[in-house]
Amino acid sequence: PSTIIYAVTPTYYRPVQKAELTRLSHLFRLVPNLFWVIVEDADETSILVRNLINRSGLSHRSVLLHAKTPSDYKLSKKDPHWSKPRGVEQRNLALDWIKRRVKHEPGHGIVYFMDDDNSYSVELFEEMLKIERGRVGVWGVGLVGALNLEKPIVESGKVVGFNSMWRPERPFPIDMAGFAISCDLFMNNPDAAFSYNVQKGYQESEILRKVTTREQLQPLAINQVLVWHTRTEPSKMDNEMKLAKKNLPPSD
Ligand code: UDP
Ligand code: MN
Repeated sequence: PSTIIYAVTPTYYRPVQKAELTRLSHLFRLVPNLFWVIVEDADETSILVRNLINRSGLSHRSVLLHAKTPSDYKLSKKDPHWSKPRGVEQRNLALDWIKRRVKHEPGHGIVYFMDDDNSYSVELFEEMLKIERGRVGVWGVGLVGALNLEKPIVESGKVVGFNSMWRPERPFPIDMAGFAISCDLFMNNPDAAFSYNVQKGYQESEILRKVTTREQLQPLAINQVLVWHTRTEPSKMDNEMKLAKKNLPPSD
């Protein structure tokens, strides 16, 4: 049986959401062995996301779940984006769902945590298929950690360090977009999960330290940049209210 890549995407409603998910769904149309686990940060799944999945032709290889971030942990508009962990509830629910499914599947599975706003190359998914059973693949991520490229340092096929400048003392000083994990590791380490109870920037280390060691990491995409930690500027909406007052038809 061929390898399945489980792409886990937390997502939440805001004006740019549909644009982000459209980009992502069009990428996935180019990646045959991918299964999309979308988790809405909401009390229920939305018609917007459901329709988008159906229109993208991915309904037979995706699942739409929901898990609301508890209000104590939810970022408000005033909070700086890094002040609270994002995606904890959603990624943990996705992991539970994947574990339940993988139990009945003999083949090799790989879990990749994908923000809805990053930029991914199709080639990254070809690289990911090289991840061996029971291992974690790692690669560089562009435009993160105040660097052009934050990446593992590789010597004779082994990860010997990282070039990270931001909190380099972290056990795994890498971004969420810079690794994918063999499903076996989640089956063998059932308590591997994300947590609210970690310092800023330690979410990646929190999951990785439960399933692997630095020595066991499998470096991939060496000398290539196949993913960028882009962030979308929030769009201005001030004219929507004015438009409504003029009694013109809504702009959608
Ligand atoms: N996210 C979410 N609820 C929130 C904020 C973020 O589900 O209240 C999702 C978001 O859609 C993205 C992921 O969590 O897929 C990471 O969030 P973001 O991209 O804002 O984090 P950053 O890139 O700044 O670390
Ligand atoms: Mn992001």
